[in-house]
Amino acid sequence: MPTTVAVAFRFFSLQVVRTRRLGPSLVRVTFGGEELADFRSDGLDQSLSLFLPQPGQRQPVVPIELGDGWWQGWRDLPDDVRAVMRSYTLRALRRNPDEIDIDFVLHGVEPDAAVPAGPASRWAAHAAAGDRVLLIGPSVADNRAIRFRPPADTDLVVVWGDGTAVPAVSAIVEALPAGTRARVWLEVEHRGDVQELTTAADAEVTWLVRAEHGAEGSPMALDAVRRAGLPDAERPYVWIAGESGCVKALRRHFVGERGIDRRRVTFVGYWRQGLTEEELRESGD
Ligand SMILES: Cc1cc2nc3c(=O)[nH]c(=O)nc-3n(C[C@H](O)[C@H](O)[C@H](O)COP(=O)(O)OP(=O)(O)OC[C@H]3O[C@@H](n4cnc5c(N)ncnc54)[C@H](O)[C@@H]3O)c2cc1C
Repeated sequence: MPTTVAVAFRFFSLQVVRTRRLGPSLVRVTFGGEELADFRSDGLDQSLSLFLPQPGQRQPVVPIELGDGWWQGWRDLPDDVRAVMRSYTLRALRRNPDEIDIDFVLHGVEPDAAVPAGPASRWAAHAAAGDRVLLIGPSVADNRAIRFRPPADTDLVVVWGDGTAVPAVSAIVEALPAGTRARVWLEVEHRGDVQELTTAADAEVTWLVRAEHGAEGSPMALDAVRRAGLPDAERPYVWIAGESGCVKALRRHFVGERGIDRRRVTFVGYWRQGLTEEELRESGD
């Protein structure tokens, strides 16, 4: 029996190294910092909790000096002081120098100004080298914030994600070994958001572009997936993430209409139309 238990997650204090626009509604922010030497992750859909400064602050305010009491201390801070906490995905981890990439959807920022912007989206749109953030990330490579876990006997991987899940899906598809059969759908706002995915797997990838269909949310995803024939498989594994109403509808489709064992379906609501992340968390959805 080991006498110590590895602490899987910890705070990392990082700064922006550079940013790169990947498309009209996606920006890649690269972070660096000495503390990344202790960052470990097996990637895939590795999620992170990011803490961002309020407008006018030079760094996010989180009372990490309180140790285990940081959460209560953070919640007790005034609304306009407390750092904004949002969930994001590790897109890439590199060494020499230690860097991580996070890809942000710019909702509510041109050219999608009709959609309400959120503080994280706004922050990412204006991020510049030297900007400071905190994140809670893994110090153990295989950790519970990785949810993509196909059972060993899986004979087909089925994946759907919207723009917020493009980073996770890209990392998942890149990691699929040769010989794996995969059927992948990605739904983005603009043609320019489509990215090249590299994989050794036998993967068929379909990009659905909302601006070209005039469709709002789930009908487009559901229609496309419903119409599609899936390759024959006895033990498929399904991973779905994105807008939570859409994710639920797709899960019902895979379990209810296609008869896939619900234990072989991983589904995660990444955001919900009309709710901020705080409101989504409070709703318990
Ligand atoms: C595990 C996990 C991993 C995630 N990974 C990523 C990631 O890698 N990249 C990424 O961009 N997002 C990711 N998300 C989603 C992201 O956390 C949410 O989109 C979040 O709401 C953005 O915060 P905000 O401050 O910009 O908007 P909020 O203040 O939370 O919301 C403001 C308004 O914008 C709406 N909104 C939120 N997101 C979107 C959107 N994408 N499109 C249109 N309207 C939106 C809300 O419904 C609300 O009305 C992830 C979420 C989870 C749970």
